[in-house]
Amino acid sequence: KFGWIEKLVPGRVRVAVRLRPRNAEELVADADFADCVELLPELKRLKLRKNNWDSDTFEFDEVLTEFASQKRVYEVVAKPVVESVLDGYNGTVMAYGQTGTGKTFTLGRLGEEDTAARGIMVRSMEDILADISPETDSVLVSYLQLYMETIQDLLDPANDNISIVEDPKTGDVSLPGAVIAEIRDQQSFVELLRLGEAHRFAANTKLNTESSRSHAILMVSVKRFVKGREASLSSENGNTSHLVKTFKPPVVRKGKLVVVDLAGSERIDKSGSEGHTLEEAKSINLSLSALGKCINALAENSAHVPVRDSKLTRYGKNFVGCNNRPVSTPSRRDSKYHNVWTKGGSSNCIVFC
Ligand code: ADP
Ligand code: MG
Repeated sequence: KFGWIEKLVPGRVRVAVRLRPRNAEELVADADFADCVELLPELKRLKLRKNNWDSDTFEFDEVLTEFASQKRVYEVVAKPVVESVLDGYNGTVMAYGQTGTGKTFTLGRLGEEDTAARGIMVRSMEDILADISPETDSVLVSYLQLYMETIQDLLDPANDNISIVEDPKTGDVSLPGAVIAEIRDQQSFVELLRLGEAHRFAANTKLNTESSRSHAILMVSVKRFVKGREASLSSENGNTSHLVKTFKPPVVRKGKLVVVDLAGSERIDKSGSEGHTLEEAKSINLSLSALGKCINALAENSAHVPVRDSKLTRYGKNFVGCNNRPVSTPSRRDSKYHNVWTKGGSSNCIVFC
């Protein structure tokens, strides 16, 4: 199951694993059984037991045991990504795993009654809001659900078939029509997440689907104004060297954070005995298998990354593992600033739950 993470290119995508504690039912039902996984956090390894004698060992960038707090998980998994987004890069945090393994717990908990329980989405926004200047900078949020290759707006349920548009020149993808909410404080962000969750629940009830079959995608665009400043440059002129005063023009830095609560990775019964038709079973996890293929291709440094196979990967191609974007995008004519920067490269982390 963990096969495709073995050979990831370091620096492009970090991979963490988080084990959740047994729940009450599992404690009772399996009290006599040993865990099928063993974590070796110091060695950053996970052993997956095959039988009593044999196990497979996998190496991760980060290993988080059942005792890891939400705070620690945030700091290890998402904080480096958030920091690079504030610095003008794009970054993605994804949670992968079967239903019930803790993906939503890790990413989406609001923690209103218990602040220690806050998940990655809420903690990321806290760090972003703490770092920006409200007078000049902006934080824009969209929240979407991808189910069977259809994109629905979780902030506007009437908008249930959003298309992905690709700029033929730059290759950049956008989602025209999706609600973009400006966030000014933490409270409005938490309310927006709660609204999105309610819409997700309602949409899935209407379609008679389970939310575990869809991907929830939160996008946070951060635009920061970085003041111009004087800089000194030393210039050699014949034998004399002297200081020349220059001026670094103001720039606008744009970074985008994408947090994806992926659909459950369990196989869907093709016979339809779970209530799914064959057609559904085939396409429900298309995005998930397409994602696996793309990450394999990145890991193998393959020249061809098959992003076209699904909407998730088509949309994600600007973020995951792209190291070769141009360093700057030229300023638009109507920009009042000199340069709009989106730095090359990206910072990404996948958490296996
Ligand atoms: P998923 O989104 O992967 O389907 P959830 O996040 O909904 O899984 O988690 C399933 C259940 O396990 C929930 O009741 C959740 O509260 C609990 N849970 C998950 N991770 C942890 C954890 N690290 N500590 C305590 N409870 C957890
Ligand atoms: Mg979930």
